[in-house]
Order: sequence, then C-alpha cells, then structure tokens
Amino acid sequence: MKKWVYFFGAGKAEGDGTWRDLLGGKGAGLAEMTRIGLPVPAGFTISTETCDYFYKNGKKYPSELKKQVVDNVAKLEKAAGKKLGDPKNPLLVSVRSGSARSMPGMMETILNLGLNDKSVRGLAGVTKNERFAYDAYRRFVQMYSTVVMGMSKEDLEHRLRSMKDRLGVKLDTDVPANGWKELVGEYKAYFKEKAGKAFPDDPMEQLWGAIGAVFGSWNAEKAVTYRRVEKITGLLGTAVNVVQMVFGNTGDNSGTGVCFTRDPSSGEKIFYGDYLTNAQGEDVVAGIRTPVHLTELEKIMPKAYAQLEKVRAKLEKHYKDMQDMEFTIEEGTLYMLQTRTGKRTPAAAFRIAMDMTNEKLITKEEAILRVKPEDIERLFYPVIDAKVDKKSLESKILAHGIDAVPGAAVGKVCFTAAEAEEWAARGEKVILVRRETSPEDVGGMAVAQGILTATGGKTSHAAVVARGWGKCCIVGAETLEIDYKTKTMKASKNGRVIKQGDWLTLDGSQGIVYADQMPLVSPEFPKAYQTVMKWVDEIRQLRVRTNADTPQDARKAREFGAEGIGLCRTEHMFFTDFEHPEKSHDRQLAIQEMILANDKETRVKALDKLLPFQRRDFVGIFKAMDGLPVTIRLIDPPLHEFVPHERAKQEELAKELGINAETVARRVEQLHEANPMLGHRGCRLSITYPEILEMQVRAIIEGAIECQKSGVKVLPEIMIPLTLDKKEMRILEQATRRVADELIKKAGIKLPYLVGTMIELPRAALLADEIAEPAEFFSFGTNDLTQTTMGLSRDDAGRFLPDYVDEKKAGVFAGDPFQTLDQKGVGMLIRWGIEKGRKTRPKLKVGICGEHGGDADSVKFCHDVGMDYVSASPFRVPISRLAAAQVVVENKQKAKSAKK
Ligand code: PEP
Ligand code: MG
Repeated sequence: MKKWVYFFGAGKAEGDGTWRDLLGGKGAGLAEMTRIGLPVPAGFTISTETCDYFYKNGKKYPSELKKQVVDNVAKLEKAAGKKLGDPKNPLLVSVRSGSARSMPGMMETILNLGLNDKSVRGLAGVTKNERFAYDAYRRFVQMYSTVVMGMSKEDLEHRLRSMKDRLGVKLDTDVPANGWKELVGEYKAYFKEKAGKAFPDDPMEQLWGAIGAVFGSWNAEKAVTYRRVEKITGLLGTAVNVVQMVFGNTGDNSGTGVCFTRDPSSGEKIFYGDYLTNAQGEDVVAGIRTPVHLTELEKIMPKAYAQLEKVRAKLEKHYKDMQDMEFTIEEGTLYMLQTRTGKRTPAAAFRIAMDMTNEKLITKEEAILRVKPEDIERLFYPVIDAKVDKKSLESKILAHGIDAVPGAAVGKVCFTAAEAEEWAARGEKVILVRRETSPEDVGGMAVAQGILTATGGKTSHAAVVARGWGKCCIVGAETLEIDYKTKTMKASKNGRVIKQGDWLTLDGSQGIVYADQMPLVSPEFPKAYQTVMKWVDEIRQLRVRTNADTPQDARKAREFGAEGIGLCRTEHMFFTDFEHPEKSHDRQLAIQEMILANDKETRVKALDKLLPFQRRDFVGIFKAMDGLPVTIRLIDPPLHEFVPHERAKQEELAKELGINAETVARRVEQLHEANPMLGHRGCRLSITYPEILEMQVRAIIEGAIECQKSGVKVLPEIMIPLTLDKKEMRILEQATRRVADELIKKAGIKLPYLVGTMIELPRAALLADEIAEPAEFFSFGTNDLTQTTMGLSRDDAGRFLPDYVDEKKAGVFAGDPFQTLDQKGVGMLIRWGIEKGRKTRPKLKVGICGEHGGDADSVKFCHDVGMDYVSASPFRVPISRLAAAQVVVENKQKAKSAKK
C-alpha cells in the first residue's frame, strides 16, 4: 500500500531532513529536528505526492489517505497523551503548508484546530485560563472561516474591532474571556449566515477542511505569482503538516519568536531574532505587534534562552548552514516548531560562506555553491551618494523605521501592489508603501525599487520576502500615517504629506525614509566577496571575457574580473564617439556618406574619414585590456540602420553632404528589406563591399601596432559575423590577412593575431568542420543562433513568448530562450559545431558571445560542452565566473554520487 502520511514524535521520525521533496521543507525539518533530539511537538506530514495526486485526479484524494490520516491522528493522540475534541483535556493541532522550496507566507495555516464549544471548556480547565482558551477558540474560528471557507477577513476583523470598542479596550491582550466568548458567538453566527450551515464541531471534519484548504492554497493566485517571480518550477506541490499545538500565549511565562543562527543582513556570527511575550507565532510574522530583540529574552527567561542557544549551535553544526528557526515557549518550556535554511542578503551570503569555510564547517567548494548568481547581481546595493549635503538630507527625513534589508531605493510612491505593477509596466520606478504587506502584494513588491511598511519587525512578511530578493526594505515606520483612501501618508514627525506619485528615497541600511529623489551610487566590493571570488577563480576552468565596445566598459569589466573582450561590436562606434560624445556627428556623417556613395571611389573616400575614428577607439580598448585578448567583430547590422528614414532628416543630411534629397530617399528606399535580420547584413556586407572590411582591419591592425610600439601588449582577434559557408569565410579571411600582414610587415614588428568567425546560423554550425578550415576560432552568437534555429524574431517574439513560458498557458519552455539557452535545440547545434570544428582543427578556440554568456545556467552548459570561454556584459562577468566554478563543483559531486 502506498504511503502518503509520515509520522514524527518522541525522538523518532519516518523521514529526515533530506526528504524535502516528499515532506516539504517544513516536514523534513521537523523530522530531522525530532531525530537529533530537539524538543519538537509530535505530528505527521501528508506528503507532497498527495498534493500532486490531488491535482492530477480532479481534486480527489488517494483512496488510502483517509485511513492513514485516521491512524496517524491516533498515533499523535497517543504521543501527546491527549485526544482531539476531548471535553476535559483536548489535543489541539496546527495544520500548515510546506513545499520543498520555501514560499514564506504564500500558503495557508490553521491553528488551534480541535476546538469546539465543549473542548474549549476543557482547555480553559487544564490551563486554568479561560481567557486564553476563548482567545484560542476565536482565532481558530476566524482562521477556519477565512482560510477554509474563503470568508471575508475584513468582516471578521470589523466584528473584532467593534467588540473592543464596546469593551473600551485597545489591545487584544486586554480583552477579557467574556469578550472572546461573545466574539466566538458572533463569528459562528456569521459563518452560519454565509455558509448556510453551522460551524463544524467535529474535529475530524475540521481537520479534513483544513487539509483541503492547504492543498488548495498551492494553486492560489499569490502562490502561483510567487513561484513565477522566484522561478520555482518542477515541484510536486505542498505537504500538509499536522502538529500538536503548543502555546506561546498562555501568559507572561510564554511567548514565541523567530530567530536566525547568524545575522541574515550582514552575515555576522551573532544570534539574531525577534521575540514576543504572550503571543502566537503568527503575531510575529504578520507584523501586527512590534517584537523585541532576542537579547531581551535572555533577560526575561534566561533558562529558555540558554536552551535556545544550545539548539542554535546544534542546528548550525548539523545543517552546516545558517538556519531560520521558529520557536514557542509554553510556560517556560521551549519547543522548536521549524527550522530551515535562512534567507539572507547577498552580502550575508558571501560573509557566511567565507566564515563557515574559515570555521571549517564547510569546504571552499561548498562555499562556492552557497552563493547564488543572483546574489552577485544584488550585492552592489546602491547607497545614497555621500556627496549629498548632510543638512539637506536631514531636513528631508520623514520617518525612522526598522532597517530590514539594506541598500537604498528611489521611486514614486504607490500605495497598492496593483498600482505599483501598473506604473512599473509603463516604465516608472516605484516604491511600494503599505501599512503592512501580505502575500497578495508580492507582484507589486517584485516590481518595486523598494518597500516601506508602517508596521512589522525584521521577520515580518515584507522583510522576509524583500530580503530574499535583496530588495531595499524598511518596516515598522510607525510614525507614518498611511491613508489608503486619500492615497497619502503623513509624517507625524513634521506633518509633511506625501501623495501617491511623489518621489521617495529609502535608506534600507539605516531604516530612514526621505522625501524626494536622492542620487544613489554603487558601493565597493565587500571583503567576503573578494575572498569567495578568489576561490571561484581558482576552481573554474572556463575563461570569462566581456562584451564591451568602449574603453570605459572594458575598464569596468576588468574590475569585475573579465579576462579579455569576447565581443567588441564595431558598429556601435559608428553612432557614438564615446570619449567625446559631442563629436559623434562627425562619424555618423562619414558612415552615412559611405552608405550613400554611388561608386567605390566615393565609398573609399568616406571610409578614409572613418578610419581615424575607429583606430582611436581600438587603441583605447587595447590599452584598457593590456595583456588580454580582444575580439573585434567586423560590421554586422544592415546598412539601413545607419540612415534616416524621415523625410526631414533626409533633407538635412542631403544638405550637409551637398547632394540631392531625392538621391538620399532613393538610396534609403533601395536599402529597405522585408526581413532585414535575414538580409544584407553580417559578413555579407563585406562580400559586397570589401572596402569596408579593409578599412576596419586597417584600423584594428594600425591601432595594435601603435599600442605595441608604446609597450602595450595586444592580442587582437578579428571576427567575421554571420558566416554561412567555408568559401565565404575563406574569401574574407584572406582579405583580412592581406591587409593585416602588409601593415605588420611594413611596421617591421611581430604581431600575432587570429582570424575567426561567429557561429550564428544553423548552416554554419552544421558545416562547422568545413568552416573551421579558414577559421582559427569560433564564437557562438547565440542571440542570432537562437533566432535562426527557433525561427523566433529576437526583436518581436517578446510579444508572445510569455505565453510559451507561462505554466498555466502553454508552458512550452521553462524560460525565455533568449535569456537562458535552449540547451535541447540550439544546444544541440552548439555541441555539433564544437565537435565538428575540433575534428578539423583540434585546438580550435571556442567561446560564446550572445547574451547567454552572462546567464548562469547557460554558462554551465558552455563548460560542459567544452568551450574555452564565455563572454558577458561587464556587470554580469562575476555571475559567469561564479557559474563557471559552480559547474565544476556540481559535476564533481554528481560523479561522486554516481560512483556510489
Ligand atoms: C549574437 O548574435 O549572439 C551576437 C552576439 O551578435 P549580435 O547580438 O550583435 O547580433
Ligand atoms: Mg549576431
């Protein structure tokens, strides 16, 4: 019989921490903590396979499930020494979701299940606390009504507020037993009115309702959105954890908290967390009350704190990673309710990886796997420019809040997630401002530059989600009065009112909210980053180059660790003079003159004007890359991209060149192509107009000679784009060598250079063995190769590709193939091309220079197929370095486990 339910309790568990896929993160954590002897309440986990079955079978449970749940309830009752629904001493349970990947707050939880009009009296009796018992009861009825039955939260909250008004109390903790009793009555009446039936008294009926709600929440809009934003795919579903309740809200000797074994913001090795006296777990996460720091617990309950410290040490040693734990103290006794690998800021990810390696908790290789490519992207949080005058900065302070996630953000205020999404879609930078966030807000949070909430602590929903994304976040800015109706917020500090759409600046590192738009700058690399990246460079085999067209970009990329240029797109130099932008017009005019020329002679004259510009650019790039290889690609785009299409601009150009406007218009007309991407572009231009190639090669080699003479080490690699045939490549290779060799000979120096090609067309990949005869290197141009292999226009496919990626629509691809390489299709051509190319030329140098060279998964593929290097845009160079090292470690681990 298939097993769907797994028990844990009294030091034993049917599963362990490695069973995440089956038991979900929470279930696996509970099983593991039970095994290693930590104080965990007993319970059972209904597996993720059950969720999978449920959705694959028209939302029906497997036939064996009922009995297995009943049996496990009996087991739980035995372990707890109490029975569900017992009128004297009832067992209460929590029912919680938990999938293999953490999705904080996205799915449902029901607490205090098992209460009814009879058992609540039993609970009041054994705890000698009627107030507590009825508070637990109303919480349960409230959660059950909203979560299981989908009733309005606001309607119930409204009843709660009116009850408190009637009694004249402000805080929930001041409500007496009778108040809660009355509220339970009102809730149940509301339930009956809305559901058309009485609130279920039978604990088993309650349990099945809760199980259904948890499974249902797997496909709730917010959970689906979260998975999309986080790119979580391939999971079976959620597990359901049914666990004996322990109570943090039985009085001042009880409480609940969330803690991390290290600081999740800085990574520092300090015990870090929030604690709330006399509260249930949800109160901390929901950010309704602002908790105290964990160090306070040491003062309030030194014994429980000392025990928690021991658990911290044990769990970190056991998991060898920073843990995020939930605990409850019931009448002085500590219970662990959850442990999971803690989400952390990118800076903390590096710090923890480095420290744990130095502490010999993990190896360097493990450390490399601990940081994620996205961490690097998010590492260089911007900060407010230090040049901003301190006094004027201070005058703009609106509020101080809690520094939940560091970095600074600037944007226009939006008070709803939906509006934030709308504004961001039209290109606005937004700051999402909420009293508190809830999982429904994730879409808006994802697109916002930063997040600000008026309530909550460092472990509130907003803080946890934002930290995972490395997104600037301030919580608990309680002095801000947010009014959703008027879409304004008032700073009680100085009475200043901010309206929706006004600029706001957040300093998440200090927790300060400023009015207006402040200039931001990117910070220095932290020490841990440098250390871990040194390990990365020691282990990786792939070289990492950069795509750079200017000396500035080249220098930046070198700072980021680039080991050469893999693609310099020379045509960019035709548009802009990067050193002297004000002089760009001169070169634009020269290229336009060349294009409009009627004969070769005029064309050559125009090209002669371009030559010094190009040469100067190359000199700048060679200098910036002193000692490293530089791949320069000859002209690539169709010529029509360089000439004006509007009549007025054409007339202007004609006037400047002293020719007839009609001539310009006619020539532009001639250049028109129905399908320019498959048209007269790439090396086809050099076949038609060899003088363009000659000018470019001359500029490259003259620049290289000049540099070499001044002591700069140059390693030029001249690259022919969009090649489709050996003969075509041979013609262009020979033309290149003719110009280059003559110049080098005349200079009387030795200047090694390479001539190679891009592989951007399926035909070139298929005939790679032939093309490798004249080509000394291949660089896969996977932007075009994806376009031409898949028949998807790289410029237009964005309009419908989302349908292909959307799991709910078609789900044909896991991701955008222009971002992450289509390893199956395009990848097959790459494998073939490399294999064939190296048959002809065993030492053929192979790289990639499409956007995929900066995408971690694609980089790993490039390693596996035996490329020599990848080339990425400057800011993505560190990502590629990391991915190149990770794949080495991952492959090693795979080989090891295959051996086993
Ligand atoms: C490519 O096609 O992958 C490439 C790098 O060239 P471009 O993007 O300039 O067409
Ligand atoms: Mg291309």
